[in-house]
Amino acid sequence: MVEREFIYTGHPARVIFGFGTTVRLPEELARLGKQRALVLATPAQKAEAETLLALLGPAGAGVFAGAVMHTPVDVSELATKQADALSADVLVAVGGGSTIGLSKAIALRTDLPQVVLPTTYAGSEMTPIIGQTENGVKRTQTTLKVLPEVVIYDVEQTLGLPVGMSGTSGMNAMAHAIEALYARETNPIISALAIEAIRSLARALPVIAKAPGDRDARADALYGAWLCGICLGSVGMALHHKLCHTLGGGFDLPHAETHTIMLPHALAYNAPAIPDVMKKLTDVLGSDPSGALFDLARAIGAPVALSQIGMPEDGIDKAVESAFANPYWNPRPLEKEAITALIARAYSGERPV
Ligand code: NAD
Repeated sequence: MVEREFIYTGHPARVIFGFGTTVRLPEELARLGKQRALVLATPAQKAEAETLLALLGPAGAGVFAGAVMHTPVDVSELATKQADALSADVLVAVGGGSTIGLSKAIALRTDLPQVVLPTTYAGSEMTPIIGQTENGVKRTQTTLKVLPEVVIYDVEQTLGLPVGMSGTSGMNAMAHAIEALYARETNPIISALAIEAIRSLARALPVIAKAPGDRDARADALYGAWLCGICLGSVGMALHHKLCHTLGGGFDLPHAETHTIMLPHALAYNAPAIPDVMKKLTDVLGSDPSGALFDLARAIGAPVALSQIGMPEDGIDKAVESAFANPYWNPRPLEKEAITALIARAYSGERPV
């Protein structure tokens, strides 16, 4: 039986999904009536940006291949100046969350429309959320101004995503769907998408770890990641995302790996407060969903301990302190002793309890 009362807010997006869909870029720009694209990428993906520039022909105005992690304000301002200097009328971003973050930052400053080609599973392209860093502080805001107008999912663009990143990026995506299931504003639409997303990713990630070129698994993973992005952009997140934000910011830990390590523990902590969600997760992950996520991380060769990714042992107390610094909603109230034990277990890579 469906819940009697709920609110669902859908976000507008035109999505093109498939293999080889990148070739549709010129017609998508034409559809928007745009003629001067600034193509964005990280330095590592400059070649991809240049390929798109060539594909665009006269509609390609230039490339800015300076996207970096955490969307620093100075980089965004530099890129915005380049967009102005080139009289760009549309942004094209090819890459993961860092490049899409830069695109959103320019859109925030200029209102330029965005056409995005995601190459990881982070899901930023589906959210109206932007985090920007200035003087070492990352501030997040939510505004429809940063939501991309068109998203072109081309599975081919993800075939080269290295195995390690594929696994952790996929687990990062799963975290959005899992927390969406027990979000305060959860609703049956988002829950249905979340379960479909978790099923797709749980099926795809072990295959990709062994055969990174498996086209069916890559399609499943990108489809799952898309749905996970919708989850992230539609409802509020809780303990897991808060802990990852705290740990990532406090100890400069890598984003996707931190999510991969924390997810089984955060779910195990919340499990007693969310019996209905655990029942749904049992259908897709088996009788012990938290244990299954831990096993999945091991099966795909991802790190399972914060100690493996650079967290100092004496950081546990500091992490607990920051987790309690700004109160936030979570299905199970935050208990200091249990949270300390959770972080200690994640630090040493123990199985979640
Ligand atoms: P990323 O964008 O930082 O990419 C990491 C590296 O992998 C980069 O060098 C990139 O060029 C490279 N790369 C990306 N795709 C590749 C591919 N297919 N083949 C080879 N190399 C590739 O990593 P990410 O995990 O996608 O993004 C993380 C960032 O995104 C974080 O800063 C996070 O906060 C942000 N994020 C924001 C939102 C949001 O809604 N605002 C959502 C998710 C993540």
